[in-house]
Amino acid sequence: MSSNIEIQKTCNFCGKMFTAHTLHTRYCSHTCNQKHYKQLKREEKLQEHLVPAFTSTTTTEVNYTSLQQKLFLSLDETAAMLGASRRTIQRLIAKGALKAGKIGSRCIIQRTEIDKLFK
Ligand SMILES: [Zn+2]
Repeated sequence: MSSNIEIQKTCNFCGKMFTAHTLHTRYCSHTCNQKHYKQLKREEKLQEHLVPAFTSTTTTEVNYTSLQQKLFLSLDETAAMLGASRRTIQRLIAKGALKAGKIGSRCIIQRTEIDKLFK
């Protein structure tokens, strides 16, 4: 079933005027159709990622990239980075497997000492 109708439409993606031959054509070309579809999908995905980040208020969430760049880490940060508990880290320190320094009563661990654990 082919129709001879010609409708002036604006492309949903690039905004160009084009002549559509069916009422529900929304794009000037197949490329625009695909590109727009991909864009929508991407935005959808982005939304999925953004929503949990905005709704989450937990303080246990760790910014791993910033931890990676730190030279010294606290006991908590080390535990978070290694996915271990504070106690595990304390045990490693007690065993001498992990060298730790002290600032007052605060325990600090040098970032490079953590790397040594894996050598
Ligand atoms: Zn277009």
